[in-house]
Amino acid sequence: MFTAFLIKYAEIGIKGKNRYLFEDALVHQIKFALKKCEGRFLIHKSQGRIYVDAQGEFDYDETIKRLQKVFGISGICPVVYVEDEGFEKLCDRVIRYITDVYPDRNKTFKVHSRRARKDYPKESMEINADIGEAILNACPEMSVDVHDPQILLNIEIREKIYIYSEIIPGPGGMPVGTGGKAMLLLSGGIDSPVAGYMIAKRGVKIDAVYFHAPPYTSERAKQKVVDLARVVSAYAGPVWLHVINFTDIQLYIYEKCPHEELTIIMRRYMMRIAEHIAKETGCLGLITGESIGQVASQTMNSLIATNEVCELPVYRPLIGFDKNEIVSVSQKIDAFETSIQPYEDCCTIFVARHPVTKPNVNVIRRHERNLEERIDELVQTALNTRELIVVE
Ligand code: ATP
Ligand code: MG
Repeated sequence: MFTAFLIKYAEIGIKGKNRYLFEDALVHQIKFALKKCEGRFLIHKSQGRIYVDAQGEFDYDETIKRLQKVFGISGICPVVYVEDEGFEKLCDRVIRYITDVYPDRNKTFKVHSRRARKDYPKESMEINADIGEAILNACPEMSVDVHDPQILLNIEIREKIYIYSEIIPGPGGMPVGTGGKAMLLLSGGIDSPVAGYMIAKRGVKIDAVYFHAPPYTSERAKQKVVDLARVVSAYAGPVWLHVINFTDIQLYIYEKCPHEELTIIMRRYMMRIAEHIAKETGCLGLITGESIGQVASQTMNSLIATNEVCELPVYRPLIGFDKNEIVSVSQKIDAFETSIQPYEDCCTIFVARHPVTKPNVNVIRRHERNLEERIDELVQTALNTRELIVVE
């Protein structure tokens, strides 16, 4: 019965000129989200609102599911359009709406009408009263509650008349694209996809980099990262995933540096390389899935060491999250099942038995000098041979 959706969005902070940018980005993201959905849709802005009109047959559930992944949407209202064929017909149509959507009818309601077209013969107050009365006559089980109704029945008089009352919650946030772009360090774990999701939620477009170490990490481990990039892209739009072959760098660090510092030094090279690509591609920051104290390389001291090699800000949205909180977001966004597949990631192979938990940055820098001879060349080769996978 529904042929359209009214898209609600939070309006805080989007006054004036920014409002257009916000709305245009939202329309763009909705178009992208519905591209692969069954059915054709017309997405349009009209008088400060965004509508998604189905053109013919469409899959209602799938459409809702996809709209619920578009950041910037706070609510989705399924709408019934009716032709303006006089007030009596409208009352009939509204009663049919009520009996279809609320079969048990035992509810309180309030009619809220708006005239976007001032040539309509009745004023809003009158429309509210008359439709309210028609409903009460047709459905005696129902009653009016103007303060806290169970059903807020919206009637909008436009070219056509729009009837809606349900609000399905959206994901909130800001439309992706309104906040610039950032580079996500995406591994096959639980944390980094969640971190990418959280920054995308604030309107930031996501590119990603994965450090692959064949043959220590398998093709299947890489495929898992591609799958996780796809999960992120369901929310963030197309993700450009840069796959860096990290094996030679890792082996060289393994050969030249104390093993308890391997993880930290490796992480410093990941950050350097990620930043290099980030700057090249117009990203305004890096994103990682780090959380204080989760592992040795994520103590405050270790974070000093990984942080200092970057000029761009490093966003760590999970910094104060416990693992179970991260897991619950991971499950909510449908990443978890993929993240827990048992394919090794490159860090697990080169981990020392007793990694430093309080690295001293001066000591780390001194040990990195052991790499002087070949590291620049290896980094350059890794950059030159990177693979780009566009994931959508
Ligand atoms: P995750 O669950 O995201 O893998 P983790 O708990 O395993 O995180 P670490 O392995 O210490 O933590 O990595 C910390 C962060 O560094 C990750 O969240 C991710 O952003 C980045 N990272 C780690 N390994 C890689 C990799 N192979 N490729 C890209 N980024 C990585
Ligand atoms: Mg990991």
